[in-house]
Amino acid sequence: MNANPAIALLEVETLQVEFDTWDGRVRVIESLTFSLAAGETLCIVGESGCGKSMTALAVMGLVPQPTGHITSGSVRLSGEDLVRASAARLQQMRGNEISMIFQEPMTSLNPVYTVGEQIAEALRLHRGLGRNAARARAIEMLRAVHIPEPERRVEEYPHQFSGGMRQRVMIAIALACEPKILIADEPTTALDVTVQAQIFDLLEELRETRGTAIILITHDMGAVAEMADRVIVMYAGRKVEEGRVEDILERPAHPYTRGLLACRPTLVLGHPGARTELAEIPGVVPPLHQLGAGCAFAPRCAHAMPRCRESAPPQTGLAAGHAAACWLLEPRQAAAA
Ligand code: SF4
Repeated sequence: MNANPAIALLEVETLQVEFDTWDGRVRVIESLTFSLAAGETLCIVGESGCGKSMTALAVMGLVPQPTGHITSGSVRLSGEDLVRASAARLQQMRGNEISMIFQEPMTSLNPVYTVGEQIAEALRLHRGLGRNAARARAIEMLRAVHIPEPERRVEEYPHQFSGGMRQRVMIAIALACEPKILIADEPTTALDVTVQAQIFDLLEELRETRGTAIILITHDMGAVAEMADRVIVMYAGRKVEEGRVEDILERPAHPYTRGLLACRPTLVLGHPGARTELAEIPGVVPPLHQLGAGCAFAPRCAHAMPRCRESAPPQTGLAAGHAAACWLLEPRQAAAA
């Protein structure tokens, strides 16, 4: 792991994303602020519907149209505000400066082109490489993501690859133009456990060798423990806790973060047939149009007080780089002051 938070490559500030729905305008991202340093791995965690994938799409300039809107805030890449950038500039930026890989590679790969052609396409588009140079670079990228016999496999089609190998191809396409940032949205969910570990090892290796900063979007705290330098925990479109990975795993402050950590399977040994025990957070993420003025987690929180339902808690600083939004933490801030 390697990070220098002092040098921000990406700065997201008070980002707000809203959607037009049958129930009216719904805010799916509420005043989100975070930064990413060069070479750093930032994990964004939370359950389905917490806003983590929408955050990634907003950073990429891919908020679904025409219903989605970035209504305020900024996304600065090396100082340039992408929220106010032209469509042409965003097109140029995607794949070249920020790339993204998704959960199911088959939906992103085109079944009628060879993997070599698909890697080469990105290189021709962004780097203006000729046919032979792009093919040579495609082979080089397949080798970099540890696909055996890359000279032969560059001519094969996506259906000839296993799920894990297809995700490696997606990573090869994403990194072909050497972007500064790779966003990986649940990249291993569709893969079995052994292959998941291999993909995480590959991402870690590529980050170390190429210096690519990674935003990993996941619901899996095991992946967080393995990959993260820093972590943002999101709930119902809000950041509820942020900290270095050791803050989040060893000193979680927000009841939701503690609930996510309790959901990790733990091996119960010492009796016949060792098993795993799983806790769970009761309830589900509420429909966003039904959120009131208070803490969005209140309906599921075992510690909820009347005050929690009346007003949303502010972020409380707990240590350098570690903050959480919960009324329970207010006395700690007062004590520190
Ligand atoms: Fe629970 Fe209240 Fe803290 Fe929200 S503010 S997490 S409801 S204790």
